This record gives sequence, C-alpha cells and structure tokens, in this order.
Amino acid sequence: MKSYDVAVIGSGPGGYVAAIRCAQLGMKTALIEKYSTLGGTCLNVGCIPSKALLSSSHHYEEATKHFEEHGIEIPGDVKVNLEKMIARKQAVVDQTTGGIDFLMKKNNIDVFEGLGSFIDTTHIKIDGKDTGEIEAKKIIIATGSKPSNLPFIELDKERIITSTEALKLKEIPKHMIIIGGGVIGLELGQVYYRLGAEVTVIEYMDRILPTMDAGLSKELNKVFKKAKCKMMMSHKVQSVERKGDDVVVKAENKKGEVVEFTGDYCLVSVGRRPYTDGLNAEFAGVKINERGQIEVNEYLQTSASNIYAIGDVVRGAMLAHKAEEEGVFVAETIAGQKPHIDYNLIPGVVYTWPEVAAVGKTEEELKAESIEYKVGQFPFRALGRARASGDIDGFVKILADKSTDEVLGVHMIGARCADLIAEAVTAMEFRASAEDISRYSHAHPTFAEAIKEAALAATDNRALHV
Ligand code: FAD
Ligand code: NAD
Repeated sequence: MKSYDVAVIGSGPGGYVAAIRCAQLGMKTALIEKYSTLGGTCLNVGCIPSKALLSSSHHYEEATKHFEEHGIEIPGDVKVNLEKMIARKQAVVDQTTGGIDFLMKKNNIDVFEGLGSFIDTTHIKIDGKDTGEIEAKKIIIATGSKPSNLPFIELDKERIITSTEALKLKEIPKHMIIIGGGVIGLELGQVYYRLGAEVTVIEYMDRILPTMDAGLSKELNKVFKKAKCKMMMSHKVQSVERKGDDVVVKAENKKGEVVEFTGDYCLVSVGRRPYTDGLNAEFAGVKINERGQIEVNEYLQTSASNIYAIGDVVRGAMLAHKAEEEGVFVAETIAGQKPHIDYNLIPGVVYTWPEVAAVGKTEEELKAESIEYKVGQFPFRALGRARASGDIDGFVKILADKSTDEVLGVHMIGARCADLIAEAVTAMEFRASAEDISRYSHAHPTFAEAIKEAALAATDNRALHV
C-alpha cells in the first residue's frame, strides 16, 4: 500500500491548489479524482466554460449591435454557429484541464482516478480506473458541490436542465425560463438572450442577486430589461412540467395569483449543495451538518483532527478563489505555518456585461450592524475611457467609515469590473482610507479612474469630473 504525508480528495480549484502547495512545502502528496479530467466544477462545468460562452456571445452581440456605431460594416448577415461555439468552449476547457495534469506532474503529485472513500481516519479506498487503498497522515476533503434542485422538479437534463447541460446545448432555445436570478441564472441567461433566445427569469426574492448591494441588482436588472428579458421578481415556483418539447412553469406572485410560463427549456439555478456522496465520511468520524456541509473549525479541521475540508463542501461562499485560498491555508497549516484568510475580503464577481463586482460590506450590512458610513459614487459615463469604447453603463460605489474614512466596502458595475475589483481588495487588505485611494495616481484614460473618483466623492464630495 502506498503511503503519503497528505492525500487530497477532489481535484477542483480547492483540491488541486492544496495539493500543489503541500508538494511545494515538501510533503509527499496524492490527489484522488473520480472523473477522468482534473479541475472539478470550475474548470469542467463552471467558471471556465461559462466564461468562454460569455465571451463568444459578447463578440456576437458586439458584431450585431455595436460594430455599426464604430463604423464597421459587415456585408451580409452575422450568424451564430452554436456547434462551433460549444466546440471552442470545450477546447478551452480541455486545454485548461490539461494544464492541471502538467502541474501535477511538475510537482510530483501522484494522481489516482477513482471515487475516494474513507475506510478509517488514515486509509482511503479508491474505486474507478485506479483501484486499491492508500494511506495518508493527513487528508484534505475537497469534494465540492452539485446543483441544488427544488423537491418537486424532475430534472430530465434535456429540457429541464442545470448549468451543466446549459453549457452544451445543441440548439439556441426559443424561450428559456430560468428559475433563480442568482449568478448562474444571470450569466447563462445573458449568453442565451444574446444568441437570440427569449429569456424569463423567475426569482423568489424581490430582486436579482439578492445577496449583493441593492444598487448593483437594480442596475443589472435594467440591462436585462433593456434586452427584453422578463424579470419576474417575488415569484414562488410551484411546479415545472415537461409537455412534449415544452416546459410549463407555474409560479405564485405576491398577490397570491398563479402565473404560467411556457418555454422550450427551463434552467434550474437555485444554488448548489455540498457534495459528499460515496465519501463514507462517517467511517473516519467526520461530521456533516444539517445543511450537508462538512463541519470545520477555524483551522478548517473536521471533527477528525488529521482530516481537513475546504471549498464548496464547507461553509462560506461557493467560489473558486475562496476554495483556492482555503487550499493554501490548509497546506500551510499542516506544515506548521500560521496562515490567515480574511473572508470579508473575498471578492464576488458576476461576469455579465456590464460586469458586477464587490468586496467588503454592503450598505444593507452596515445598516444592520449600525456602522455609520459615507458613500462616494461615480458613474462610468463620466469617464473619457468609457465613452471612447462605448461602455458607459454602471458606477463604482465606495463605502467608508464615517469617522475614520477606512474603506468598508466597494461595489461596482460596469466594464472590466471583474478586474478592477482587485484594486479595491488590495486597498482594503492594507486598510486604506478613501482619501488614500483618492491620492494615488490612476492612469488616464482608464476605467480605474472611476475608483479614484468614487474615493474622491467619499472624501468630502471632491469628485473632479461630475
Ligand atoms: P469542485 O470544483 O466542485 O471540485 C470537486 C471535485 O471533487 C470534483 O471534480 C469531483 O468530481 C470530485 N469528487 C467529489 N467527490 C469525490 C470523491 N469521493 N472521490 C474523488 N473525487 C471526488 N466560481 C468563481 O469563483 N468564479 C466563477 O466565475 C464561477 N463560475 C461558475 C459557473 C458555473 C456554471 C458553476 C456551476 C460554478 C461556478 N463557480 C464560479 C463556482 C466554482 O466552480 C466553485 O466554487 C468551485 O469549483 C469550488 O471548488 P472546489 O474545489 O471546492 O470543488
Ligand atoms: P445563487 O445562490 O447565486 O442564486 C440562486 C438564486 O435562486 C437566488 O437569487 C435565490 O433567491 C433564488 N431561488 C432560490 N430558490 C428559489 C425558488 N424556489 N424560486 C425562485 N428562485 C429561487 O446560486 P446559483 O446561481 O445557482 O449559483 C450557485 C453557486 O455557484 C453560487 O454560490 C455562486 O457563488 C457560484 N457561482 C459563481 C459564479 C461567479 O463567481 N461568477 C458564477 C456561477 C456560479
């Protein structure tokens, strides 16, 4: 039987990063993955393929709606070849997962393909292409998550689908009904409305992206409405039924009326659930809580002291970069170091266009915590760079402590916000004040100037260009 210092179960961004960091720190490391490709949800059916389709559909939208205003004329029709678009997405995925194979070899990590399940606290059974048993002093569970469903919905995976199927459709839906106006619903909803589908978003709460700053929800809602999407807020879905090639969704509105929607596809995107099927966690004394998450303490240690858990399978945001931070954290903890993660400073991004990004506290949270704050907001339309490219929608909002001026939250919607948010994270990691941000130089003309201007606005309302 092979023995390791550390065995990692699951090869998503949590697991493979943990394995690399363990190997870098001199530990003999094994990685177990039940599928034939590494990279987990993120690389195979999550972050990477969804961004590939968002990029392709964005190019199409630019060509059909915006090229003309730039003086670019295309003779004849611009057409979508969905098969080719999906094939390109798959090529991006294959290249990216192949990169993880390379990283495993480079770091001398032994990869086993098969379902990993606990025999006891130090032994794992592997069942798949590779079979057998390995022993490890420390074990990291990084088994991730799967799409959640509502109890009354039967996912046929043909027309009543999850994000996994929505990433490989063979035709452009005529009418896609999306249950859940969260990140997945909006990103994939935008892909398909850009390609020509009619899109209806049915959301249980009174706004899309209900956990983000309300100003961002409002602005993105406008974008979807402008694209003629039906945005049905405060609707409680009651039934989803397949009728031939149609799907009929019934939902109850605020007045108690039942509203019926008929489409040819229904995407169920109501969240994800931690995944521990087949792990036999109980054989190692690893506790799973009532929400299905593996219970961990502040060191990400489970109820079995040599076993840790990270990523989507534990509490907190279900984000790839959060899983990666936790992978590094656990590897360094095992090595005897004293790492730290500030969960308040893990940014959240929605890769629609305009992009939505945020870090730190929302206004709603500050109010609930009775923290006095000031607001500095700056619209992208006032930037030369935004007008030059034609990306004028959106704003940057900085929330700073009323007495100390420390930045407590940054919320933005607009072009390139997914990348711009890194400046806010850096500033907040170094506990910058709004005035600090307003006093360092931002290149002109850039979208980043909106951050400086919002910081100026938060500092005695000193924005220069509004
Ligand atoms: P996962 O990536 O889920 O990996 C877990 C791995 O463990 C899987 O490969 C699984 O097969 C394997 N496994 C499970 N059980 C076993 C077992 N018993 N034995 C062996 N292997 C096992 N996040 C972002 O930050 N940015 C984004 O843009 C983004 N876009 C997304 C888009 C979509 C459509 C979806 C669905 C998710 C997206 N996410 C995004 C979320 C992100 O994918 C997850 O937060 C992230 O993948 C979690 O990483 P993880 O390592 O915890 O688990
Ligand atoms: P989500 O939690 O973002 O959104 C789910 C939405 O469904 C919420 O708005 C919720 O109010 C709504 N909802 C729940 N039950 C409902 C019901 N019965 N009827 C109508 N609406 C209902 O979840 P998701 O969009 O499925 O994404 C899952 C996870 O994947 C998220 O945690 C997210 O962080 C991650 N993800 C991240 C990205 C990104 O970082 N860009 C992209 C995709 C997914």
